[in-house]
Amino acid sequence: MKKNILVIHTGGTISMFEDHETGAVKPGEENPLTSQTSTLSDLANLIIKEPFNLPSPHITTNEMLFLKDMIMEEYQNNQIDGVVITHGTDTLEETAYFLDLTIPHDFPIVVTGAMRSSNEIGSDGLYNLISSIRVAECDGAKGKGVLVVLNDEIHTAKNVTKTHTSNVSTFQSPQYGPIGIVAKQGIIFHHQPTDREFYSINNISKKVALIKAHAGMDSSLLFAIKDMQYDGVVIEALGQGNLPPATVEGVQSLIDENIPVVVVSRCFNGIVQDVYGYEGGGKRLKEMGAIFSNGLNGQKARIKLLITLSYTQNIKEIEEIFHH
Ligand code: ASP
Repeated sequence: MKKNILVIHTGGTISMFEDHETGAVKPGEENPLTSQTSTLSDLANLIIKEPFNLPSPHITTNEMLFLKDMIMEEYQNNQIDGVVITHGTDTLEETAYFLDLTIPHDFPIVVTGAMRSSNEIGSDGLYNLISSIRVAECDGAKGKGVLVVLNDEIHTAKNVTKTHTSNVSTFQSPQYGPIGIVAKQGIIFHHQPTDREFYSINNISKKVALIKAHAGMDSSLLFAIKDMQYDGVVIEALGQGNLPPATVEGVQSLIDENIPVVVVSRCFNGIVQDVYGYEGGGKRLKEMGAIFSNGLNGQKARIKLLITLSYTQNIKEIEEIFHH
């Protein structure tokens, strides 16, 4: 029997055209996916929604929250078996991870996009959409959290990141690799995620900054973040989670104000750990009260901190959630 798959188009290159005269890639009067998707009814019973058509740099946590609510509502009312979301690739990983953390169900949710717009040679949009529908209706995709499917690979929302500005194989999971492949004759999973997390939220009202450490960095941005009354900050620190000594005063001033400081690494492989005992070293930062995150990249740690802050402002509780 055909499965009921909810397909939500949100915009991005997959929904755009190239203007062959100017070379500009942009949305047109009509979303090309609307007619393309209607030709795919032999794959599944498709329920097609297009709540907005935005390039993904325009996506905020408001749209992410909207998608979460839309999926939960459709699940309650329409017996859907799976979901496919088409999305711009620039912030795709953030939306995918947001949904991963906030939707408690086990049915497959797949996020996809394209690197080439609908009328470019070698356009990958329709192909990725078909692959994603195939994954969303496959029993093996259940209970694995939100998945990201492009270029014949299946990645977890937690580990995947956009690694290349233009190549169709841009989505990779550094350190971990994909968990499955889309093959001509079937969907094959070769790895299983070890755990899942769920946080029930109804709104996002906090402000979290994301900054990157560099050689010779000082405390000025950290002081500015405190003065601008941010509710939290994620720092992409150096190596295993170290910072230049001149930032220590700024980190301390945030911690003194009870503003959580989450440390991730600007290295794209590996996890941060409190190893180094010199000034600004991870051990010293942790002793000061900085929270070490477990392998998330900066943009995803920011999404997690935003979600966590809707839940609790207690630094110890936030720390426990980040050790998960
Ligand atoms: N800039 C585009 C977007 O994120 C890139 C893409 O979709 O591939 O909307």
